[in-house]
Amino acid sequence: MHEWALAEGVVLTALKVAEEKNAKRILEIKVRLGELQQVEEPVFKTALKELTRGTKAEKSNVEFLTGRAQFKCNRCGRVWGFKDMKIGAEESELVHFVPDVVHVYSRCPSCESPDFSIEQGRGVWIDSIKLE
Ligand SMILES: [Zn+2]
Repeated sequence: MHEWALAEGVVLTALKVAEEKNAKRILEIKVRLGELQQVEEPVFKTALKELTRGTKAEKSNVEFLTGRAQFKCNRCGRVWGFKDMKIGAEESELVHFVPDVVHVYSRCPSCESPDFSIEQGRGVWIDSIKLE
């Protein structure tokens, strides 16, 4: 399960920050989950709980936030989000699962160009950490 690998990244980063700041423990971790990153939240939560056991992050309060996807047209520079896409529910599901297929189903809303980049929305990252 890739949730475990993602959770490990979050825990290691959080512990490194706590170490650098000489914190006694980590009270809260806010984690942003990319809209295009398929994450099973319950699995992710369990992984975090297991991985923080016996560390400074044990029993810390973990909150999940959504990292909105953002696309940018390489031709006209238009920036748009997932909700501006004119794609069906089925395609939307696919895009969430395999972000790269977004190019097959979508075009720039302004100039119809299929040449655009995924600027944001992939991966999992730490939004903020509260230390003691
Ligand atoms: Zn465009």
